[in-house]
Amino acid sequence: MECYRCGRAADYDRIAVGRRSGTVAGSLCLDCEDEWLTPETVTSMATCFACDEPADLLFPKWDSIVESDDGSGPVETEYKICLTTPAACHYCIQR
Ligand SMILES: [Zn+2]
Ligand SMILES: [Zn+2]
Repeated sequence: MECYRCGRAADYDRIAVGRRSGTVAGSLCLDCEDEWLTPETVTSMATCFACDEPADLLFPKWDSIVESDDGSGPVETEYKICLTTPAACHYCIQR
């Protein structure tokens, strides 16, 4: 699965989930998590951590992922969203 922010197929602890759709849009690679979503960031699932606008995407940590071998099939993911799950708007994720 490719990182939703930088497009690389890198290792990841978090996934990107559409807040309204609930569908998995991609991953959030470890580099992006370190550089962009730092551990010191105070986060809420309702608002973008960078600009406080309503969030479009949530970045929960995943529990388990089943991905088809060729990467083209559906991805089944288990994850938990809580009040402090990081979230961002489309505008901020593209900077
Ligand atoms: Zn990335
Ligand atoms: Zn934002």
